Amino acid sequence: MTVTVRFAPSPTGRLHVGNARPALINWLFARKQGGRFVLRIDDTDRERSRLDHEVAIGEDLVWLGLTWDERVNQSARTALYEEVAERLKAAGRLYPCFETSEELEYKRKRQMARGVPPVYDRAALKLTEAERKAYEAEGRRPHWRFKLDDGEVRWDDLVRGACHYDVSHLSDPVLIRADGTPLYTLPSVFDDADLGITHVIRGEDHVTNTAAQIQIFLALGATPPQFAHLPLLTDAAGQGFSKRLGSLSLGELRASGVEAMALTSLLAKLGTSDAIQPRQSLDALVAEFDIAKFSRATPKFDPAELDHLNARLLHEMSFADAAPRLKGVGLDGDEAFWMAVRANLTQINDARDWWHICRETVAPVIEDAAFAGQAAGLLPPEPWTADTWKSWTGAVQQATGRKGRELFHPLRLALTGRENGPELKTLLPLIGRTRAAARLCGEAA
Ligand code: GLU
Repeated sequence: MTVTVRFAPSPTGRLHVGNARPALINWLFARKQGGRFVLRIDDTDRERSRLDHEVAIGEDLVWLGLTWDERVNQSARTALYEEVAERLKAAGRLYPCFETSEELEYKRKRQMARGVPPVYDRAALKLTEAERKAYEAEGRRPHWRFKLDDGEVRWDDLVRGACHYDVSHLSDPVLIRADGTPLYTLPSVFDDADLGITHVIRGEDHVTNTAAQIQIFLALGATPPQFAHLPLLTDAAGQGFSKRLGSLSLGELRASGVEAMALTSLLAKLGTSDAIQPRQSLDALVAEFDIAKFSRATPKFDPAELDHLNARLLHEMSFADAAPRLKGVGLDGDEAFWMAVRANLTQINDARDWWHICRETVAPVIEDAAFAGQAAGLLPPEPWTADTWKSWTGAVQQATGRKGRELFHPLRLALTGRENGPELKTLLPLIGRTRAAARLCGEAA
């Protein structure tokens, strides 16, 4: 059977780092196993689902490089959910309930007061045909619960290990609302079975749903998939990320100039014992991936760690990988430019400043006009190479008697307008003789 996984976001907000992690882990798992990655848009909730969010989710995944082999929208599959609901009703596994939410709340309160777990008492199962008719005559429309089998449900979780859950602690879950629309559970289980999902890798906020879902798989005559529940990412203060708050949304990170590979390099390793290193391709992350490496401890996401990784990634990036990134920020930089500046970047946007310095106009900083003018007079004719800096500054040293910082620092300020930056031996040929001479003479060039 082909390994098949799914990432199943609800389009009720933008993706953030907390949901990018399971998306990435699903994708890496699929690629590692030669399997398939399905993007399932959980848009059965018509009120809260929005098309702009759905579009953004697709864009964010493409930005991360997490392309899918199949994409389905649950909203297009409602007829299938109705059909499966009818099947479960006919089999006696879905039963109608007429309690209002106030009545249910009252029952819960009484159970709590008696020190009994607030589990649904299945009163609706005991209703006679006449009692049901009477409710319907009152205008009540039933919601439908799935009748759980008593006993213990066990599964071997790929992250949490052996899990077991005593079903008597669970209420029979409501699968169909009174308005006839399905809640998340039935479409999710049906789709997992129908789309051949072999592994459900998701956040541990869904652990408590798993026992009931396994019983629904069995009631549908399907083999339950393997489950892996990942601890949820938190921020440095231990708080969760919320899709609706937009905190650290992928859109914001992308707009702020973060490299997708910096983010994936971090998210693929957080919560594992592997060292976090910048990786230049998802293939490299696939090679290192093993779901068994993920621990149950809560991983913390630190934006400073992402920034640091982003800088390291750029410092090691080949020109082939950098060229499209440079284009993305509007620069037609060549290999010599990239190799000269990459070690000085923390973000790809920083390359713009160096592009100005190498190819466009900067205002020089002149500390000693006589010295700078003398240095200008000693500039050799072009063509310039990486050796030009050494021979030129050698000549300036001889003529002026300056050396060390006294020699180099004013030249850097005049040539670049900056205190620090890439090695001047690589910058000088990129700046070229015309600009260098003008800047040394105090002209913006
Ligand atoms: N749409 C559900 C969510 O976003 C999917 C849960 C699941 O992976 O089963 O929480």
